[in-house]
Amino acid sequence: MKDKMMTSLMIGIVGALFLFVSVSNAYDYAGCKWPSNNMVYDAHSLSSGWQDVVSGGRVPWNNVTSSGIGIYRDDSSSNDVTLGYVQNGWLAVTSCSGSTIVRAPITFSTGYNWYTGTGTPTTNYYDARGVATHEFGHAIGFHHTQSTNCPSNIWSRATMCEGYGATHTYKRTLVSRQG
Ligand SMILES: [Zn+2]
Repeated sequence: MKDKMMTSLMIGIVGALFLFVSVSNAYDYAGCKWPSNNMVYDAHSLSSGWQDVVSGGRVPWNNVTSSGIGIYRDDSSSNDVTLGYVQNGWLAVTSCSGSTIVRAPITFSTGYNWYTGTGTPTTNYYDARGVATHEFGHAIGFHHTQSTNCPSNIWSRATMCEGYGATHTYKRTLVSRQG
């Protein structure tokens, strides 16, 4: 997906990316994490339908109880989840200071047709729940999967692979590798 992992220490993150590529190609750690195990987001500006999408998108990560990571809504957070125009994509901007994540707002681009239900999107509609799960992956510290089995095309199935085709729903569940 054409989102970006940005940081105040970009070179450190890029270095970490290449380090971790050799270790893992399933979930690639960005090199920074939240100071506690909780990531909180602010959904106050979203419609109730989109609030449901975002709330549902976090669940697969929360269900990995062994990780200890929890994603929760807290509208006093500065990690706003919003709808807005993002050229050529959707966006998760995860900012790190050293090894600590300090902020992770997420924007769903209004330049796309979004399907916000729990069924299957129709032609030209993108699955908002699957994208929410992917973007929360960035928000808790994962890069895109750096695997040759994870092509940057619309057929990418694994949750943190870049790319997602219209009508697909693969990324609603956590899948570590292209299958
Ligand atoms: Zn992405």
